[in-house]
Amino acid sequence: MLDLLKQYFGYDQFRPLQEDIISNVRAGHDSLVIMPTGGGKSLCYQLPALRFEGITLVVSPLIALMKDQVDGLKAIGIKAEFINSSQSYGETTRIRGEALRGELKILYVSPERLALEGFQNFLKQLKVSQVAVDEAHCISEWGHDFRPDYRGLGALRRSMPEVPFIALTATATHRVRDDIVTQLGLNSPKRFVASFNRENLAYEIRTKQNAFGQIVELLEVRRGQSAIIYCFSRKETEEIAVDLRQLGFAAKPYHAGMDSEARRRTQEGFITGEFTIVVATIAFGMGIDKPDVRLVVHYSLPKSLEAYYQETGRAGRDGLPSDCVLLYSYGDKSKQEFFINKIDDQIERKKSQDQLNNVIEFSQLTTCRRRYLLEYFGDDTVSQGEKQNNCGGCDVCTAPREQFDATVITQKILSAVIRTGERYGIAHVNAVLLGSRSKKVLDSEHDSLSVYGIVKDYDRNELREIAGMLESEGLIVKNEGEYPTFKVTEKGRRLLRDRESLTLSKPKRVERSRQTRVIAAMTDSPELFERLRRLRLEIARELDVPAYVIFGDASLRDMAAKVPQNLAQFALVSGVGSVKLEQYGERFLAEIADYSQHHPTATDGDRPTVRRTPNTHRSGSTYAETRDFLSQGMSVGQVAHRRGLTLGTIVSHVEMMVGNGMTVELASSLPKSDRMAKIESAIGEAGGIQAKLAEVMKVLDEEIPYEDVRIVRAHLTQSTNGVS
Ligand code: ADP
Ligand code: ZN
Repeated sequence: MLDLLKQYFGYDQFRPLQEDIISNVRAGHDSLVIMPTGGGKSLCYQLPALRFEGITLVVSPLIALMKDQVDGLKAIGIKAEFINSSQSYGETTRIRGEALRGELKILYVSPERLALEGFQNFLKQLKVSQVAVDEAHCISEWGHDFRPDYRGLGALRRSMPEVPFIALTATATHRVRDDIVTQLGLNSPKRFVASFNRENLAYEIRTKQNAFGQIVELLEVRRGQSAIIYCFSRKETEEIAVDLRQLGFAAKPYHAGMDSEARRRTQEGFITGEFTIVVATIAFGMGIDKPDVRLVVHYSLPKSLEAYYQETGRAGRDGLPSDCVLLYSYGDKSKQEFFINKIDDQIERKKSQDQLNNVIEFSQLTTCRRRYLLEYFGDDTVSQGEKQNNCGGCDVCTAPREQFDATVITQKILSAVIRTGERYGIAHVNAVLLGSRSKKVLDSEHDSLSVYGIVKDYDRNELREIAGMLESEGLIVKNEGEYPTFKVTEKGRRLLRDRESLTLSKPKRVERSRQTRVIAAMTDSPELFERLRRLRLEIARELDVPAYVIFGDASLRDMAAKVPQNLAQFALVSGVGSVKLEQYGERFLAEIADYSQHHPTATDGDRPTVRRTPNTHRSGSTYAETRDFLSQGMSVGQVAHRRGLTLGTIVSHVEMMVGNGMTVELASSLPKSDRMAKIESAIGEAGGIQAKLAEVMKVLDEEIPYEDVRIVRAHLTQSTNGVS
């Protein structure tokens, strides 16, 4: 089996439980497999299928998934097909023929199809050696995703009593597990329950403040990587996607209000790597089997911890380090409660409220979040000993936060909110506290208040962060609106009145420690990795398959670390089996050779570019690098070429720097004077440098590249920065 694992899948070892499960299946016994997403369930029936004489039938509820799975299997030389309603009659006939002639090893079918009488007759003529039921929880009404068609599988089981069945799922409470066994009629199945600990996922809760900026910050250090951002409303998904695109991020919205064709296109575009960021409502996810999602952001609170676990579970299916960040604000809790209160059924309402309370508790933890999640899901595979340890992958463990006595500063902030009439946003309140002489402060005569200028030991950013924590603590609330204002809650007033003391966590800086973790995990050359990724996308487009069907990120990383020089070395890369070696080996080797030629050190050491890694990955320095090149007189296009990044990325570096008040050299990057004049006047007409780019583009009647407009706008912005 180990040989087959290497030959076909290109892996050297089994993951936990895989080997035991495979032995059980091969011995002809039934199995119930409970493993988290990304645990490697598919292999448990795909590998034995190769050794069985007859065919393996796989029941799977999602048409989109079937196609991806079959593409993946074909790419490694395994004869597999699927039959579902998306195919023409001719196609189904061809596939049936192949199955009957014994040419197929694995056949995927939808449960609806299985139920048809015609299909039943066809089945009787096949030699079936194994039946795998994927997403087996769909058979149970107790599960969250009941599908009546799955009930028919009980009959299938009875019709072939000798054939081993393997039921697989990622989500199952004890009740659902038992129900699967009963409904499916499994014959004293052996149960395999893997740990639900997703070791490669890091969990982090951040106080939500300037949420869009927080998202940009998260995405900026992960340029080109895949991310999902979960939002509360459809409107939010669209707005955020538009704003991200303006900053040069390849983002698209996804929600249940879009028609099914648009949704399908978005899913496909995301999976194939055409764009990298999906901003979605929770409608997105079912059927998304993308292994290389590096970041899942919850822009608003998930409905329950089950939902949170499932949504964050879409990150890092390939086992590489990935991040799950939840932006938490007390205001979002009220938003959810508003909807919960509208639920008529009293029991349902209570259930939803309890679930939300669990999420709040989880968000406010001062102990390990991973442990909390695992205990919540009744995962008893984490031993006592391990429990004591630092999990190394949650914000509480990696950045233990110092507590500080926040009584005085809290009193100051709350008083200032009240004294200014509870009619302002936090920026103004802070300006008053810090004694600003801005026009707004002077006009409102807030410089005469007793709270004016009483804060000396905190700066603006720290105040903002503390205010965010006060909001999380429920001491102040934000009134959403065009200009959000803050009010002090009853709890806040009580704190003031009773002079209660308050301890808060010191403002945390988790991102830094996280980045060190990522850097430590990466011993490859990021530049080579980028090139390999581009080659992969190119091949994927030629073959019209998702990029990961060619190679997963894990394989590319391994390639970039091992820098193989010949086919023999290439075969040692994780995920390279015999078929892929033959099909893609030469092309990837050529790319690597070309890279090595320009980077001579790459061949004489084993870890050639560790040295460079910190440089290119520390946030901020990538800007500095762009800025340096520009100041040498290069244009943005030349910098993009030189750095192997896209033009859009370099332009967004420029925008970020200019937006932060820095000056960058743009002389070589500006368009010719006539075009420049056109763009300038269009910007003026659209309302000046603050205008949305989309508006400017509308005013321009001819085809002018987006990047030109962005550069001119950045140029105008920094000229005005200079004079003010
Ligand atoms: P699941 O169905 O449990 O969500 P998959 O079967 O899709 O998980 O596997 C997740 C990823 O792990 C896939 O990219 C798969 O190729 C990879 N994988 C599975 N088994 C192994 C293994 N033994 N070694 C390395 N990678 C593996
Ligand atoms: Zn932890």
